[in-house]
Amino acid sequence: MIVILNPDTDTDSEEFKEVIAYLEQLPNIALRQHEVQGAEQKLTEIYLLGDTHKVNQEPIEAFNAVDHVIRISEEYRILGRHKDERRSAGFSYNGVEFTQDNFHVFAGLCAVDIPEHVEMMMRALAEHGQVCTRMGAYKPRTSPYSFQGHGKSCLPWVFELAGKYGIKVIAMEVTHEDHIDEISEALQTTGNPTGVMLQIGTRNTQNFELLKHVGRQREFPVLFKRGYGVTLNESLNAAEYLASEGTSNVIFCLRGMHGSAGAPHRNMVDFAHVPVVKRLTRMPVCVDPSHSVGNRERSSDHILDVAHTAAQGVVAGANMVLVDFHPEPGKALVDGPQALLMQELPKFLEDMNASHAFYQQRRAIWENTN
Ligand code: PEP
Ligand code: MN
Repeated sequence: MIVILNPDTDTDSEEFKEVIAYLEQLPNIALRQHEVQGAEQKLTEIYLLGDTHKVNQEPIEAFNAVDHVIRISEEYRILGRHKDERRSAGFSYNGVEFTQDNFHVFAGLCAVDIPEHVEMMMRALAEHGQVCTRMGAYKPRTSPYSFQGHGKSCLPWVFELAGKYGIKVIAMEVTHEDHIDEISEALQTTGNPTGVMLQIGTRNTQNFELLKHVGRQREFPVLFKRGYGVTLNESLNAAEYLASEGTSNVIFCLRGMHGSAGAPHRNMVDFAHVPVVKRLTRMPVCVDPSHSVGNRERSSDHILDVAHTAAQGVVAGANMVLVDFHPEPGKALVDGPQALLMQELPKFLEDMNASHAFYQQRRAIWENTN
């Protein structure tokens, strides 16, 4: 059961204390308080854990500070979308809003290599009005002999370049809990020129100890990738680990499923699940066409498979696209073969914006039907 307080309720106020005092005397119930910072207001939620089926919600809803109470189903308690759910989905981070209705493109390098390439990428993004990017500093690789990313040594100059070009959010994978502190420290020492969205890669979807660590931090939102070899339900439960530890600013990313069925693509595209995740949970949904497709092939219509695939996700309502670009893919240290070229950025963005507009048109067609 979740008790949702009125927006901007002061947690030092008498009204708030009255509610807590009432909830604390309920037998066999533990409380967990959760703050959700939206674009305009702060929402305080109190989770009632334990024997909640005997709890009567009416007296709770009678308190002045309480907006409403939600009975939650067992699955995805915090991130899930429950019966009579009225809570808004999404969050705001470093001035950028992420919801189940809006849309962002995170184009950037799969792996940070040299400052010149990072700067070319950031400059191109700024020229096209973009404030988000992807930059991998810690790379989980199939072979231990492959380049593993520059790690913390590249963070200061990557963050400074981001700040120089007005980039507000960088999606950056972490593979170990230490990386969170390294990112936080580098942001501090460079004067917080940008922000970071911690990425959990598909290989770590069920690394529960890492998820608990990432869930315990409060500084960064999380881009959580679906596991490429487990069910959707297993991946959603894994995302819930983050929320159960306190981080519910989570975006769920589809990136294709492992196995030969998707060949000649690198993975089997699973973007039909975009609306499913939006229905089952309150998370904004991202699609990653680069790691799904894995190449730069195009058909006789001249459209790259990466663009076709991304559009499929966006037309189905995706809120974010994570996509690999590189100024010189031949020199990329990771995933060069799937990177789009700098000169393809304007067309790609135009395609994505048109796809999102088409999604909104589709919504209008289906509005008011059941
Ligand atoms: C990535 O986005 O760089 C990445 C490694 O993706 P995934 O975890 O989906 O393979
Ligand atoms: Mn990659």
